[in-house]
Amino acid sequence: MSGHRVTIFDRMDEASGLITYAIPAYRLPKDIVKRAIETIEKAGVTFKLNVDVGDVGKGVALSALQKDFDSLFLATGAWKQPSIGIEGEELTQSGLEFLTRVNRGKVSRGRGQGCSPARQ
Ligand SMILES: Cc1cc2nc3c(=O)[nH]c(=O)nc-3n(C[C@H](O)[C@H](O)[C@H](O)COP(=O)(O)OP(=O)(O)OC[C@H]3O[C@@H](n4cnc5c(N)ncnc54)[C@H](O)[C@@H]3O)c2cc1C
Repeated sequence: MSGHRVTIFDRMDEASGLITYAIPAYRLPKDIVKRAIETIEKAGVTFKLNVDVGDVGKGVALSALQKDFDSLFLATGAWKQPSIGIEGEELTQSGLEFLTRVNRGKVSRGRGQGCSPARQ
């Protein structure tokens, strides 16, 4: 790693973004993801989870990181769902939001009814 210590901040409570939260386990088993994260940690990378970069109330300001680190790389992904501007859109759910809820165990499978939001 050419002499640089690397710290990854993430607002979620588990590392690796969509790989953990959106890709179903039948496509990418969770133990493989976990081992990959462990390998990255063993290489010296530090994960700081549940830290919202840019939202000082829930995390850390970008300006504070600029002071503490030699360089920053922002890789926020593409989680914002664009509006498609159709009537009744408020009744729909985005695919990404649905996959995230499934991966976090917040969607249950009712008998013969497909998937439905789990009671919270
Ligand atoms: C069902 C599915 C199947 C896929 N299959 C494939 C495939 O077969 N092959 C392939 O190449 N790709 C596939 N992809 C796409 C691939 O998963 C994504 O392109 C990739 O994971 C995106 O990585 P990323 O690091 O850019 O973004 P993300 O994985 O979204 O990571 C961004 C991270 O930034 C964090 N973050 C965002 N804003 C902040 C903030 N302000 N403060 C702190 N943290 C923040 C988020 O919590 C997230 O953890 C698939 C995606 C899905 C949903």
